[in-house]
Amino acid sequence: MTATTIGRRTVPERIQRTCMSLARCYPALFDTAELEGSQGARERSSNKRADPPLPIRVDVLDLIREINQIVLELQAVCAAALGLGARPVPDVGYRNSHLVPEALAWLHRAAGQLDDAGIGDHVLAVLAGDSDQDGLLRAARRLLGLSEHTLILTCPCPQLLDTDEGEVGGRPCGGALLAIPGRGLILCRSCGQRWDEQWGDWQTLGRIVRAEITQEAA
Ligand SMILES: [Zn+2]
Repeated sequence: MTATTIGRRTVPERIQRTCMSLARCYPALFDTAELEGSQGARERSSNKRADPPLPIRVDVLDLIREINQIVLELQAVCAAALGLGARPVPDVGYRNSHLVPEALAWLHRAAGQLDDAGIGDHVLAVLAGDSDQDGLLRAARRLLGLSEHTLILTCPCPQLLDTDEGEVGGRPCGGALLAIPGRGLILCRSCGQRWDEQWGDWQTLGRIVRAEITQEAA
């Protein structure tokens, strides 16, 4: 079977990367939620009673709840789509449940089959987001302290624009590049080209830019 392709990576590859990234973010979300509402914080405040109670990160807790629910539901839907029968979806609430990383590992293993079954794009949209929705991974990365500040990069956009039909290569765009670290995105404000860190695009961009700098220096 030929896997569906978006850009240079296939949909199964993207599902797998997203599952791995989300599994890495998952425990970090609990650390973030607990930073300000954890036992450690409570012990500190009980020593100094004058301290006001620290705010609990409700936004992080809400996302944990959402990840718990959506990932487990997605696994059940996918299992059914692969003919593995209907599974009850456990409600793990706000807990740090082993079921969630296990479900992500299952989706990682099943990525190729899910794409063959025609639901790879749906799985990817739910986990990684698309133009219409944020996706769990992007939301997690943003809440993990990677705020939405932007940086304007000093190197011009190296994306080659076709000048004439059929011409190979073309001129570099040269537009201003904007980095949004919280979303893992670099985008060009002129041609709209995007480099998404989670697909390894930043390394690609880095290689292109370094090659250009080397060429200019030579
Ligand atoms: Zn550009």
